[in-house]
Parts: sequence; C-alpha cells; structure tokens
Amino acid sequence: MPAPEPGRAPGRRTARFGVVDPATGETVDEVPDQHPDELDAVVGRAHRAWRGWRADPAARATALRVAADAVETAGGSLARLLTREQGKPLAESYAEIDRTAARLRYFADLAPRTRRITDGRPVHSEIRWRSLGPVAAIVPWNFPLQLAAAKFAPALAAGNTMVLKPSPFTPLATRLLGSVLATALPEDVLTVVTGREPLGARLASHPGIRHVTFTGSVPTGRAVAGAAAASLARVTLELGGNDAAVLLDDVEVDRIADRLFWAAFRNCGQVCMAVKRVYAPARLHAEVVEALARRAKTVAVGPGLDPETRLGPVSNAPQLARVEQVTKRALADGARAAAGGHRLDGPGCFFAPTILTDVPPDSPVVTEEQFGPVLPVLPYRSLDEAVDAANGTGFGLGGSVWGADPDRAEAVAGRLECGTAWINHHAELSLAQPFAGVKNSGVGIAGGPWGFYGNLRPFVVHRPQEE
Ligand code: NAD
Repeated sequence: MPAPEPGRAPGRRTARFGVVDPATGETVDEVPDQHPDELDAVVGRAHRAWRGWRADPAARATALRVAADAVETAGGSLARLLTREQGKPLAESYAEIDRTAARLRYFADLAPRTRRITDGRPVHSEIRWRSLGPVAAIVPWNFPLQLAAAKFAPALAAGNTMVLKPSPFTPLATRLLGSVLATALPEDVLTVVTGREPLGARLASHPGIRHVTFTGSVPTGRAVAGAAAASLARVTLELGGNDAAVLLDDVEVDRIADRLFWAAFRNCGQVCMAVKRVYAPARLHAEVVEALARRAKTVAVGPGLDPETRLGPVSNAPQLARVEQVTKRALADGARAAAGGHRLDGPGCFFAPTILTDVPPDSPVVTEEQFGPVLPVLPYRSLDEAVDAANGTGFGLGGSVWGADPDRAEAVAGRLECGTAWINHHAELSLAQPFAGVKNSGVGIAGGPWGFYGNLRPFVVHRPQEE
C-alpha cells in the first residue's frame, strides 16, 4: 500500500486544495482534499440510506421533483459559481442548471415496467426490477452539474443511493448543488466527495459500490474499468469523442456557418461531442475556412461573468497547455492558422479561437481529441474519402452531415460509425434518447429509459400456474 501523502493521513481532515478561476488565475475557494480512507464511512452511510430510499417509489419521485425546484431556486448562485470555477459564459451555466433540473424531472417520471413472460409454459413468470445499491459517479470538468445530473437523476430515480466525485478542477458548484439537493432528499442518499487522486480510483474499486458510472477521458476510463473489476461492479463509461462534420457539395456555406461554428466552439470546444474536425469538398474548402475564420476573429472572448462574452477561457491550465501543444504541433507539421493559433496575453487561460487549414491528416489535432477552441478544416475529393476519414478514428461518439438535401445528407449520416448522428446541426440531445458511443467512446448506455434500466437489475419470479 502506498504511504499516505503528508497531511492526508486518515483522521486528519483538514487538508484542502484551492480551486482556480480560469478567467483570472485567482483562487475562488478551497475544498476538502478527502482521504480515500474516508470512503468506507461514506459508502457505509450510502448503503444504510438505500434501505429507506429504495422502499417507496412514489416518495422518491416526489423528492426528485422537489429537488428540481430547489435547483432552479438556487440557479443564480449555482450559475455564478460554475462560471467562476469552469470559465463558461454565464448564459451557458444557466443552461446547464436548466438541464440539471430537467433531468431530475424526466427521471422522476419513469418507473420500471413489470412484465409477464408468455412463452407457452404453464408457469406464471414475471420480470421485476430492483435497484443495485450505492452507485459511484465520477465526472469531468466540462459540464460539472449536468453530467452529474445525468448520473444521479436516473440512479436515484431507480432507487439507488450515490456517492458523487466531481473533478478537482470544478468541485465548488457540485458541492453547492449537493447541499441544495440535501434540502429535498433524505440524508446520505447523495453524498458529494472532493479530493485529488487516488480518491476516484479508490471510489471505483470500493467493495460497497455496485455500479460505477464514469464520464471522462479514454485513458481514465480504462483505469476506472480496471479498478471496478476488483469488486465486479457494473461499469458505464462515457468517454471522449472526435466528431467529424462532413459538408456535402450542395451545402450553403453562409447558411450553416454560424451553427457549424458553435457546434465546434460552444463551451470553448470542451464538449465530448463538439465538432472536432470539418471535412469540406475541395471546391468549397476555402469558402468554409473563410466563413469560420471570420466568426473566430470576431467572437467576443472574455471572462464568463461579463455579459458580452460568448467564449470563455479554456477551463484550466493543464488543458490550455494541451491545446497549445496540439496547435503548435499542427503548425509545425505545415498547417496554417486562418484565425488564432496562439494563447492570449493576460493572467487567464485564454486561447484565441483558431481555424486551421492545410493540416496533415495525421497531425494530432485531427487524430486526437483537442478539446479546446481549435478546429481543423480538411478538404476531400470524393464522398467515400470523406466518410472513410470521418470513421478513421478510434472514437465513435457522434458525427454530422451538412447539405441542402436533408434526405441525401441522412443517407450519408447512416454510414457514420458513431452513437448519434445529426443532419445540419450537431450535439443536440434529447433526454429520452439512448446515449452511447461506439469504439473507444464508451461502454454501456446512458440517457432515456436505457440509462434508467442501466441502474436496475432484473429479478425474475417463476410460479406454477394454478390448476
Ligand atoms: P479525466 O478522465 O481526466 O477525469 C474525469 C474524472 O475522473 C475526474 O473527476 C478525475 O478527477 C477522475 N479521475 C482521474 N483519474 C482517475 C482514476 N485513476 N480513477 C478514477 N477517477 C479518476 O477527464 P477530464 O479531463 O476531466 O474531462 C475531459 C474528458 O471527458 C474528455 O476526454 C471528454 O471527451 C470526456 N467527456 C466525455 C463525455 C461523454 O459523455 N462521452 C462528456 C463529457 C466529457
């Protein structure tokens, strides 16, 4: 067993770490750096709370609806804190809070369906559904609240309890959300824990956890799956993406340019299913680059709390360093920045919105997930070439096809190897849809009834039919 870090020995609960505002570089606040040994008590309490929580579906649904109201009431405080620690424009923080409340209401309305099996045998067979127990949720820093809600809303609605670990970059709004939810939920039904690694790894491997639901990068997802193997807990992984937008030769560039730009740059490009690569017909390539570069050069970049801001800072210093590194590498590989291409002066983590052209297809900004305000635009000569390039990645989260004829675009979209495809837009999701990536983009299904059943187990009863 590794030696405890200084100041993190069991019983010493005073260790804390600072959370930095990426717009200013200032520390917003500190949170407890919880020792992994604290998880035994936390998971134990979650297990005891499960007994009462699982027993009464109607009371659960009512509590979740009250929780949704409480989230909306606290919306202003949650949104400001979220913007300060994450960087996104305030309007996007409010949208995240709306989606958090919407998820609570959506899943509060779901109930598992008991089903009879009718297979001709003289047996009355019935499939019922039962909750699993304490669920561990581990989430990233790009959408701290709505991704947490995507996990706790279905898990709690299904009768489980939850231990939720936010990213150490964005724990503040999640902690506030935890206390808001505590006004509506019984004690220990949802517990937020904060701390640096190995807190997440220990949570994923804790023997009292029955389902580990994780959103984050592919390498961490692999580590989480490995950790959960210790207790053979169920694992759901929502991982990275490298979504392609394929533009067809009949596309009206001016008409789609705004939508395409925001599909790539919303939340400063830090969206698992942002457009991360654009494939344009060679004939239209220069026009597409020019339309996107115009927007990149004029979009209002600034602190998220400024009402004029449309694009905030990159969310944290390590991510800024990564965005800068993949961009420099692309430029060194022969790419040209039609807009941006560099970080911006000042104390915050600002990077100029960047459109790259002449990018070699094997440059990491194309083959990997850049997760920032940088977009490569690549030309193609034949549609087969474009579809092959779009699919030629280890990821498979989403993809989109853009053109004047939606039927033709939809036919091309059907050839994309991904979980969700869009025509003439990108990354719009319904609460009622299954959300599942293929290849390295994920394991298991979140969203809709599928995500709900992902938090339940079947319990089947067979009884001979009466004479
Ligand atoms: P990350 O993988 O670095 O971290 C995610 C979470 O895992 C954080 O809470 C982190 O503290 C924790 N963690 C780190 N090491 C761990 C370990 N060994 N065991 C357990 N937990 C550990 O991801 P990130 O940088 O916070 O987020 C960005 C990534 O998330 C991108 O790859 C993005 O595509 C992905 N993402 C995916 C989706 C989706 O739904 N598919 C949604 C949003 C973000």
